This record gives sequence, structure tokens and C-alpha cells, in this order.
Amino acid sequence: MTSTLTETAAAYVLAESPDAYVLTPTRLGIFTALRMAYAGDPAALRAIGRLEEAMGEGKVVVTAFDGVEGRCASVSRGQAVEHVFTATGCTCEGGRHPWHIHPMLFRLLLAERAIFDPAGLLAELCAATPPPADDEPPPPDDAHRPDWADEFPGL
Ligand SMILES: [Zn+2]
Repeated sequence: MTSTLTETAAAYVLAESPDAYVLTPTRLGIFTALRMAYAGDPAALRAIGRLEEAMGEGKVVVTAFDGVEGRCASVSRGQAVEHVFTATGCTCEGGRHPWHIHPMLFRLLLAERAIFDPAGLLAELCAATPPPADDEPPPPDDAHRPDWADEFPGL
């Protein structure tokens, strides 16, 4: 199996595996965790089941994932159709449903990155989410200087 993800995100450890998009022991564990997290939500559980089934059949092809946004080939229409998905949205026809295969794929990939590449994931999240603009200037350095520091010149 060829992996485009390997070419676009070399730091993504799992992409270097020849079975990057199939069920692995780690992914099975994440599926169990997802089922526990959404135990009271039948729609979410159906989406988890569909994702696990598609992944088990080798129909899930992820082309990019940076922790904020992912891209994958359509499970039903093949690699000619690409979907873009985030934690809350998706470009596919099922995107109008809160729970379908792509929101769960996002969660699975995020958990996987957190396990295998936490530093890379954090760096990408920080780059994608700059701090909010602040109109107030930062306090002067002396604002955090303790009172007793005046007794010790040079501190
Ligand atoms: Zn979707």
C-alpha cells in the first residue's frame, strides 16, 4: 500500500508503516476508548462502527492530517474524490450529520498522533492556533519583580 501521508508528513510515525490505514492494535484500542467516550450516543457509536468496518476493509485512505484538519479519499467513491474534515466539520455529503465517519476519523487520528507523535502534534496545533490579538501591552518586567529584589542589586 502506497502512502501519500508519508510523503507529506514524514514525522507521522504510523505513516511509515506499510499498513498505515488498516486496523492496528493501537487503533483497536482507540476504537474501544471512543466507544467508552460515546457510550450514551447511538449515532456516534454507529459512526465508530462504520469507521472501524471501513478501516478493516482497507477503504480508509488519509492523505493529510495536521491535528487541525485532515484530508482523505472518499470511502464510497474512491480516491478521485477527496474530503476535508475537522473536529466539527466536513466537506462530504454526510457532513450535515454531526456524527458520521469523518468526525470519528478525526478523533482517531488525533488520538493516534497524541500517542505516537505528541511533540509534532503540539507544534502543529500551536502553529495553527496563534494566540489571540491583545490590545493591552504586556506588563513591564518590573511588574513581576519581588519587593525584596531591590535589596539585591544586579538581580
Ligand atoms: Zn464527512
